Amino acid sequence: VEKTYQRGGWFGAKAVVRAVHNADFTLYKGETLGLVGESGSGKSTLARCVVRLVQPEKGEIIFAGKDLRPLSRNGWLPYRKRIQMVFQDPYASLNPRRKVGDAIAEGPITHGVPPAEARARAAELLRLVQLDPSALERYPHEFSGGQRQRIGLARALAMQPELLIADEPVSALDVSVQAQVLNLLADIRKRLGLTMLFITHDLRVAAQICDRIAVMQRGAIVELGTTAQVFGAPKHAYTRALLDSIP
Ligand code: ATP
Ligand code: MG
Repeated sequence: VEKTYQRGGWFGAKAVVRAVHNADFTLYKGETLGLVGESGSGKSTLARCVVRLVQPEKGEIIFAGKDLRPLSRNGWLPYRKRIQMVFQDPYASLNPRRKVGDAIAEGPITHGVPPAEARARAAELLRLVQLDPSALERYPHEFSGGQRQRIGLARALAMQPELLIADEPVSALDVSVQAQVLNLLADIRKRLGLTMLFITHDLRVAAQICDRIAVMQRGAIVELGTTAQVFGAPKHAYTRALLDSIP
């Protein structure tokens, strides 16, 4: 896909930012693909194109054999449930005025799951992400960053998605909590057979969880290979630079 942003206007010079341009890749069912690259390389923009938070000008987004890009808002509705995204800042998807249980059950209820069943599913998911069921009746601000990240994950999983996009899900967390959330993600994806696009600027984090890694630089994917290939025999100079920067 291709996506440019217009910046400036009114005062100052207008600029066109080519956020994503050469970004062809295939994500296979059941795999976890890491999207790695420095800040501003276009990772979030690419992810946002997939879930329609931004509209790319060009390209194709093939999901289950169908190009999602030209779909109307209504045409896209059924895919909303099948593709879920977890954000770097879990506040972005958690309403501070809504109890955790309601936040998790909300999506399924909108998609026709009976409320009682949705609530039961929420309780189960809290257990899956290792939070106490009493969290159902509490509010997001009563939790730590790592706990909120897990609530965000439970909320995404409640939709029983086929594809989960995780945009820097552990970047805001300190290293010990990072490991907890990563282990949890690895465990859940195995258990549920999830397909995952895992975004991070940290190659080491990607190595812990990804089957393959795509390296992005200035809007383009410059290298794509298995995690072992990317670490053991990097082809692109930028990948080598990223590897060299690991202390
Ligand atoms: P980070 O690791 O910091 O999250 P990223 O790889 O996710 O970075 P993007 O957020 O996709 O990068 O940004 C890619 C480019 O597009 C950057 O140059 C950014 O400044 C620009 N950009 C992103 N969103 C917008 C926007 N809404 N309006 C204008 N420019 C934007
Ligand atoms: Mg980003």
